[in-house]
Amino acid sequence: MKTDLVIIGGGPAGMAAAVSAYENGTTDILILERDKELGDNMK
Ligand SMILES: Cc1cc2nc3c(=O)[nH]c(=O)nc-3n(C[C@H](O)[C@H](O)[C@H](O)COP(=O)(O)OP(=O)(O)OC[C@H]3O[C@@H](n4cnc5c(N)ncnc54)[C@H](O)[C@@H]3O)c2cc1C
Repeated sequence: MKTDLVIIGGGPAGMAAAVSAYENGTTDILILERDKELGDNMK
């Protein structure tokens, strides 16, 4: 598999990095998250 950017961890920092990269032209992004859902480790 080829992608331009791999982000390990889909918490707030990872998702913010993905949004920022996308807004700056990197659209081929893979977020690897070990949990079932992105974004919220406070459950
Ligand atoms: C009990 C609790 C209550 C909180 N309440 C609030 C609140 O009310 N308001 C607030 O603003 N902040 C709150 N926080 C703080 C907030 O949760 C953190 O500041 C924020 O989640 C940090 O984001 P992060 O992306 O840096 O890390 P994380 O949220 O920890 O995200 C990291 C992600 O990476 C994943 N990960 C780690 N290692 C791997 C791996 N090897 N492979 C794949 N995935 C991996 C984890 O599963 C996780 O989803 C609270 C924190 C806790 C613990």
